[in-house]
Amino acid sequence: MHNDPSLNDPTASHDPSASDGVRVSDGLRTSDGVSTTGGVSTTDGLRGSGDLSADLAEAARVLSTATDVTLLAHVNPDADALGSALALGLVLHRRGAVVRVSFGAPAEVPETLRDLDVAGLLVPASAVPAAPPVLVALDTGSVGRLGPLADRVSTAGVVVVLDHHVSNPGFGHVNVVDDRAEATALVVLRLLDVLGVELDEPVARCVYAGLVTDTRSFRHASATTHEVAARLLAAGVDAEAVARPLMDSHPFGYLGMLAKVLSRACLERDAAGGLGFVHAVVTLEDAAGLRPEEVESVVDLVRTTAEAEVAAVLKELRPSSWSVSLRAVSAVDVREVAQLLGGGGHRLAAGYTAHGPADEVLESLRAALETVTARS
Ligand code: AMP
Ligand code: MN
Ligand code: MN
Repeated sequence: MHNDPSLNDPTASHDPSASDGVRVSDGLRTSDGVSTTGGVSTTDGLRGSGDLSADLAEAARVLSTATDVTLLAHVNPDADALGSALALGLVLHRRGAVVRVSFGAPAEVPETLRDLDVAGLLVPASAVPAAPPVLVALDTGSVGRLGPLADRVSTAGVVVVLDHHVSNPGFGHVNVVDDRAEATALVVLRLLDVLGVELDEPVARCVYAGLVTDTRSFRHASATTHEVAARLLAAGVDAEAVARPLMDSHPFGYLGMLAKVLSRACLERDAAGGLGFVHAVVTLEDAAGLRPEEVESVVDLVRTTAEAEVAAVLKELRPSSWSVSLRAVSAVDVREVAQLLGGGGHRLAAGYTAHGPADEVLESLRAALETVTARS
């Protein structure tokens, strides 16, 4: 059940930009799961209606009548977040809506994702309206992941959440959260199908970019998802041309950074409940002159350590402030570890933000790993 009655009524004409004085955001669920719409408290499931098809139909209904749509990716957007936003944004833009795509931070669009924006839909965070009529949050597991734009969730007229994080509380009015989808891009593609969109190359490319990265080049992809990939290729996507800049291309300086960072990496065989833990630290000095793409890819090398079930990379954001990437091979649920430390993510790929000296961050992480491995 949705908390806005008008969104449940298929006969209701819902024009989010209508100046009827009724703001759907008044009914946003609070973090304890209590909806306050119209003074009625409900404690229905936080994650949409539990019926994915119904939630998709609801999202399609809101978006097909919207005339002004703001699509937001999570902070430090990856190809799934931005690809998903740009795929949907491009379709809505072609249908005549005013569309903007943005994210809270950093200020620059990751270089490897710029080419996905064929219609110039990306705008800086400062250009996002204070109260967008329709807001779509993509690949964003919690409100906090919108960073400096998180406040728009309470000022927007209607909030649509499209995501695949199991921990997503369903912070929108319409929540399409499929934790079995390997990427948010797949949720978006299902929505495009409901909208009756015929896929073409620019849209398919955005979807493919999200899919190829979140599935680690289709290694974590079901048979059905491989069929989806075939469909995207049939729409004209050049797989190598999309994937190489995203995952396989770095400036020469990357090699020097890796040499420094990897030489300091440390393996703790007894950690993580005896399953092994490997970690590396990328300081601001290590990363100087390189793009976020180079720093983000370090974990993909560290995680190859055969002796370790869990890999972590501490990436320095500001002095003594770290974004921590966690990866597991199969046995440890690193989302649980990240959640203990204030973050989130997926079973085998998660993250959180931490403060303090690197050795203290690692100490807390070791403790959280012991807690989670002792549970199972
Ligand atoms: P990353 O290691 O940055 O590639 O992130 C891996 C996954 O962890 C992402 O897809 C997010 O789902 C999640 N994640 C990363 N950082 C955070 C954070 N600070 N808070 C919540 N979830 C996060
Ligand atoms: Mn993401
Ligand atoms: Mn994703």
